[in-house]
Amino acid sequence: MKREGLTIILSAPSGAGKTSLCRELFKIFPDIKESVSYTTRKPRPGEVEGEAYHFVSNEEFTRMVEEDAFAEWALVHGNMYGTALSTLEEARKKGVDLVLDIDCQGALKLKEQFDGGVYIFILPPSMEELRRRLESRSSDAQEVIDRRILRAADEIKESRWYDFIIINDDFDVACQELAAIVIAHRRKTFRMLEKVGKLFDI
Ligand code: 5GP
Repeated sequence: MKREGLTIILSAPSGAGKTSLCRELFKIFPDIKESVSYTTRKPRPGEVEGEAYHFVSNEEFTRMVEEDAFAEWALVHGNMYGTALSTLEEARKKGVDLVLDIDCQGALKLKEQFDGGVYIFILPPSMEELRRRLESRSSDAQEVIDRRILRAADEIKESRWYDFIIINDDFDVACQELAAIVIAHRRKTFRMLEKVGKLFDI
């Protein structure tokens, strides 16, 4: 029996530390792959096509929506983002564990339509700390930061329907918690049967 790949969905408000946690997760589990989404956003300096994203035009994105090529898609900060159905299906079929870094609208669409994913929400320890992190890391105008804080307050309400919540206060602890969730799901019996079958010929 072929082991089915695990789909790990991560969401967080901007400033919660999701990018750093993801980076650490890929270091701990080098065989876990990152899902490459499609977006209409323009590449930032240094971003390479096919690495963080597939950068497509509005027309191309609309065509993919019409062809039902997306497992989920959403409008985030004025740009379209979507996860291709083929990315999810291929990984599951090949037994590859996949991380999707997507917003809560897209995560909810996936949860309603697909079985088997594990949904994890990363929270900052407080709104004050979130503001402090956003202010210290960016050169953005105060009104941009204020807008992010308002949006974060809305996004945080969505955390209630996720399977797991990690509060990223101490980064190392948050990493351990994320790794623990991933390990527990990798060790579920139905994901172990292929290996057990090979080891013990049963
Ligand atoms: P950025 O443009 O800064 O890379 O990402 C902005 C936001 O878009 C992040 O919150 C990220 O989680 C979300 N995002 C990235 N890819 C996808 C996707 O395929 N689907 C959805 N729904 N959101 C995405």
